[in-house]
Amino acid sequence: MIMTAFAEGNIPTENIRGRLGYTFAAMSSHAVSMLAEYLRGAQNAWAFTGAGVSTPSGIPDFRGPDGLWRKYDPERVSTIEAFRERPEEFFSFWIHRFELMGRAEPNVVHRLLARLEETGYLRGVITQNIDGLHEKAGSRTVLEIHGNARTGTCQGCGRRYGLEWMAERVREERVARCGCGALVKPDVVLFGEQLAPDFERAWEKVSHCDLLWVLGSSLQVWPAAELVPLAARKGARVVIANHDPTPYDDLAALVIRGDLAELARGLAQEMGLEVKG
Ligand SMILES: [Zn+2]
Repeated sequence: MIMTAFAEGNIPTENIRGRLGYTFAAMSSHAVSMLAEYLRGAQNAWAFTGAGVSTPSGIPDFRGPDGLWRKYDPERVSTIEAFRERPEEFFSFWIHRFELMGRAEPNVVHRLLARLEETGYLRGVITQNIDGLHEKAGSRTVLEIHGNARTGTCQGCGRRYGLEWMAERVREERVARCGCGALVKPDVVLFGEQLAPDFERAWEKVSHCDLLWVLGSSLQVWPAAELVPLAARKGARVVIANHDPTPYDDLAALVIRGDLAELARGLAQEMGLEVKG
């Protein structure tokens, strides 16, 4: 899994953007020092996170080796049609997974990103995750482009409900139904639905950023993944830290493979930031 493309002493110091990528292992001091240098030099840096930042918090990802979509068909359980046509099956699949997310605790990666925002190195986090862990870790600017699992909205009257209420309804009636008679849909973006309004804001932020740091995303879900070529086109530096290769590695100035928690600890130390975990 670990790949070190460049030998000691061959460390790039020039202002490198796109298509001249360097790939390092997460524990490599080169990876950590380059990333620290990029963050220190950026005026407008954003993090873009995927499921890989939440797996250390016990939340299964979708496309990893133990990912949900290896065992279940997303067409069956995760489309807007599935919600409308088979709501009982939809809720029975999702509601305990949402409850698990609600009970999960942020890990060192979430906490480092919150600390980087607090200290002015990051403007905020754009996330594909629906678990709310960035906010729980203290991040203030979080754009949830796939929505969130903490609330739901009635498809009839638009009334909002919390996850606990939905879970209770599902336990009693197998679906969450509003007093008006319509179903309550969790505020997550299903396949076949438009992205959350936060996606437009994310697009705008990425259009003007000078550093986009991808963490824990395989960049295989569109149009979310499109933020990466957008950043590169606009001249931003792209860093991709993920367990596996992504389709956009060749756009990145720096690719870091390996364990994100290890990378987070190394970076916190390199930048003199106190981060728990
Ligand atoms: Zn209603």
